[in-house]
Amino acid sequence: MTPVGHAIVGAVSCYVFGLKNKTDISTKKILLISSLIAVLPDCDFIISWFYPVQHRSFSHSLLFGVFTGTVAYLLLKSKAANKISVFMSLVFISLTHPLIDFFAADFNYPFGVMLFWPFSKEYYISPMFFIPGTVRSSLRDIFSLHNLLVIIYEIGVSVMFLTYWSLYRRTK
Ligand SMILES: [Zn+2]
Repeated sequence: MTPVGHAIVGAVSCYVFGLKNKTDISTKKILLISSLIAVLPDCDFIISWFYPVQHRSFSHSLLFGVFTGTVAYLLLKSKAANKISVFMSLVFISLTHPLIDFFAADFNYPFGVMLFWPFSKEYYISPMFFIPGTVRSSLRDIFSLHNLLVIIYEIGVSVMFLTYWSLYRRTK
């Protein structure tokens, strides 16, 4: 999934978990934080330009997701009544990234994500793909038509999901 898709998933998850109603934090801020923690693991791609770190390695582990969600929760200093629910929502939003990439097609070796780092440096990938893969071997690849179409697909699926969710909530 592209970083754009991950950010959208973070914002959609924030909405689905009702985080803006659970916290005393402004809607803009909680939406921004949700999107940021959902996209954060892909910062390893930027780091890899300056430092030899493999994309989708430690930052795509379950432990990194739990860590990121915990840090976000601590930084928010929320005075919400249901602190555990806010904490769990933030951790889950962080975990959407490695879990989605696990189910995404991958054209770049090593395929998949280092899900169980630091206990294992093995890369894991689902045998069935639900999310189209991106190309990222060069700058030209990153800004390719293929990746643009993937972004359009991700936005389309997110809009469909939000529409369905809104209709479902209204009938309840
Ligand atoms: Zn990723």
